[in-house]
Amino acid sequence: MGQTLTEKILDDHLVEGDLQPGEEIGIEIDQTLSQDTTGTMVWLQFEALEMDEVQTELAAQYCDHQTYQFDFKNTDDHRFLRSAAGTYGAYFSRPGNGICHNVHKENFAAPGKTLLGSDSHTPTPGGLGQLAIGAGGIDIAVAMGGGAYYVEMPEVVNVRLEGELPEWATAKDVILELLRRLSVKGGVGKVLEYTGPGVESLSVPERTTITNMGTELGATSSIFPTDDRTEDWLARFDREDEFVDLQADADAEYADEIVVDLSDLEPLIAEPSMPDNVVPVREVAGQEVEQVMVGSCTNGAYEDVLPAAKMLEGREVSKHTEMIVAPGSKQASEMLAREGWTAEMMAAGVNFSEATCGACIGIGHVPASDSVSLRTFNRNFEGRSGIEDDSVYLCSPEVATASAIAGEIVDPRDLSDDLGDLEAPGFEMGTSYSGGYGAGDTDIITPEESIDDDLIKGPNISSVPVKDPLGADVRGETLLKMQDNITTDHIIPATSDILKFRSNIERLSEFTLSRIDDTFAERAKAADSGVLVAGENYGQGSSREHAAMCPMFLGVESVLAQSFARIHKANLFNFGILPLNIDEETYARIEQGDDVEVVDDVAAAVADGQEEFTVRVNDDWEATATLDASERERRTLAAGGKLSLTKQRHSEG
Ligand code: SF4
Repeated sequence: MGQTLTEKILDDHLVEGDLQPGEEIGIEIDQTLSQDTTGTMVWLQFEALEMDEVQTELAAQYCDHQTYQFDFKNTDDHRFLRSAAGTYGAYFSRPGNGICHNVHKENFAAPGKTLLGSDSHTPTPGGLGQLAIGAGGIDIAVAMGGGAYYVEMPEVVNVRLEGELPEWATAKDVILELLRRLSVKGGVGKVLEYTGPGVESLSVPERTTITNMGTELGATSSIFPTDDRTEDWLARFDREDEFVDLQADADAEYADEIVVDLSDLEPLIAEPSMPDNVVPVREVAGQEVEQVMVGSCTNGAYEDVLPAAKMLEGREVSKHTEMIVAPGSKQASEMLAREGWTAEMMAAGVNFSEATCGACIGIGHVPASDSVSLRTFNRNFEGRSGIEDDSVYLCSPEVATASAIAGEIVDPRDLSDDLGDLEAPGFEMGTSYSGGYGAGDTDIITPEESIDDDLIKGPNISSVPVKDPLGADVRGETLLKMQDNITTDHIIPATSDILKFRSNIERLSEFTLSRIDDTFAERAKAADSGVLVAGENYGQGSSREHAAMCPMFLGVESVLAQSFARIHKANLFNFGILPLNIDEETYARIEQGDDVEVVDDVAAAVADGQEEFTVRVNDDWEATATLDASERERRTLAAGGKLSLTKQRHSEG
């Protein structure tokens, strides 16, 4: 039987297990990436694991999430990251050089290679045939040390693209359409592999917009085959020698097939506050818009900003609206500037911003209270923009720009102004990349150019906590009962006032779950040990391991949820927290404040492979909870987490 493209790449990198869906497999990692908010923990753990040097083909450290400096803490973190990259042999992309996914795509992503990144949108370069997966920082640290990455073999789903996009419909609308159909849980446990005649009509930046937002579907990864357009893209960065022709076999079998006829699509928009609240733009047209933002790792490429610039040529941003453009990389900014497009946009009333994540996680450009913000980003979770009552819509650069001109949400097909009807700008590949991109990126410090050979730690950088091995008892108060779809932003908010403590777990943990209950951290500390209860899809969103590390630090022993998001569940194992699945009835019955006790000898049961556990509540009633864990995850849990396990192994020689 033939293989899917995903199976081919996994097969090439397989070090343990069989490619059977649901089975745990170990794969060799070629490249890693980390960003600044997860990177300090990656390198502190790399140090704690007593590794000497990066063992992967390539490791890259980016500084993109927090580049606006409020005080010394961020600068200290960036200096630490530079020193770690230099000390251990990684590439370092300086603050302001751009968003990790954009810069990685431009400089390092390569077809057929595996990439593991401590950021949930790591799958972005799937658009050029790289199998890229988001994971926790500890997994990155272990992979950089040469260890395999373990993951449940995903189901491979064929997303068959037919037809061609009509005018004004974009790659963003392809992924919004999939979110509309499948929801934010629709890709869990799956790799979405794009095939069909529609693929060749999409450029690499369009493909990466789609693979980027596969994360919003919960997918393990998303991938496109390679073709002439991939080769052309790599050639523009002087990297054509990295091209590999990659296709699924003609007789490959997929777990499922989804057909999207591109020619049926129209401009779509995700309403607040979930990326799957998708409707046609025309259904929400007419609402006044106070802010429009074009950029992010989803739509921050030169080719994403160019249509906005063309639409604004000779026009003006409405007086009702503030429009901000933040390209995804400094190289894209440079290109736009060299070609005169930056001046064109500025003349139209655009604020041109640094190439950074920034506003995507509420750092800068926070919307005014009770106002509508239209963004080309990938997420609109409530409060993520930096204000609790936000109203963030997600759309393409074309819809965002048309709405900025109109001052209200508008389907660009319906906008005509004093200058007449807008013409669809179309999608154009950059033509003058030579000299600006690739090896010429002066904001990347290569391992050879490093100026550091020792770690530099400022006062806000503390060592990582290590948990004791799992004991026989897991018991405690239900510290918090939560709903479905709790995000990692709920668990540890990523806003600047909080994120600045990311390298200091004791201080950061004070903000744990504060967006749901601001007494949580204090209560958890006082209780000394406790459990959390949640509905479906607990921990969706980012790969932020702080969302497991901080509850662990506060004494959370177990999370009882109806289901877990993949990366977060892996992080719970990695930090020694017992993730138990409960059914709907048990979820409905447990109340906050209830005493919960796992009746079995937990350490022994976990080690023995026991799947069902008895949970006693208030010494009054009992329910069954299940532990879905591989042998390796059980070993990790029993040791108190991955760091404890690896350290144990080191001490045993
Ligand atoms: Fe940055 Fe937002 Fe992309 Fe995350 S989703 S990498 S915060 S731009």
